[in-house]
Amino acid sequence: MDYKEYITIVEDWPKEGIKFKDITTLMDNGKAFKSAVDEIVEYARKLDIDLVVGPEARGFIVGCPVSYALEVGFAPVRKEGKLPRDVIKVDYGLEYGENVLTIHKDAIKPGQRVLIVDDLLATGGTVEASINLVEQLGGEVAGCAFLIELTYLDGRDKINDYDILTLMQY
Ligand code: IMP
Repeated sequence: MDYKEYITIVEDWPKEGIKFKDITTLMDNGKAFKSAVDEIVEYARKLDIDLVVGPEARGFIVGCPVSYALEVGFAPVRKEGKLPRDVIKVDYGLEYGENVLTIHKDAIKPGQRVLIVDDLLATGGTVEASINLVEQLGGEVAGCAFLIELTYLDGRDKINDYDILTLMQY
């Protein structure tokens, strides 16, 4: 399926010069959204994963249906101050801003095989930070899956050592 026809490109949002890839118009289409999720599920089946990890907020939207289909758990990665119990943290840089990401300390058991899912790979800062959190807790990152990759930002170079699936490239 050509998923790109369901993505809306929003110029100068959230800042001037950024061409934001809006996935809500893909989510709006039941067949396209299911097909995209199914492709990630197929990929994940080959990796024999124990857990899906997704950064807020769009990583929840794509990651949760994947974990549901695989009958494995989902662990949220969130901005500082959002998770209610003991967390570990990591600093990360975004395409547009700086931030801290956290995960519950007991979210991952040592040795668990983890799939990281997000909507979009840009500079790779978010996924690199998520990998860092998973590995701090003794998890093994089996793969990383995204709907969209912005190839001109070279995010892939930050996660060269990991298995990566992207469904669309810009
Ligand atoms: P990175 O950390 O630079 O790879 O940026 C990826 C993160 O920023 C993901 O969590 C995305 O949700 C978000 N992001 C960056 N650019 C876009 C965009 O154009 N559309 C949707 N999300 C974006």
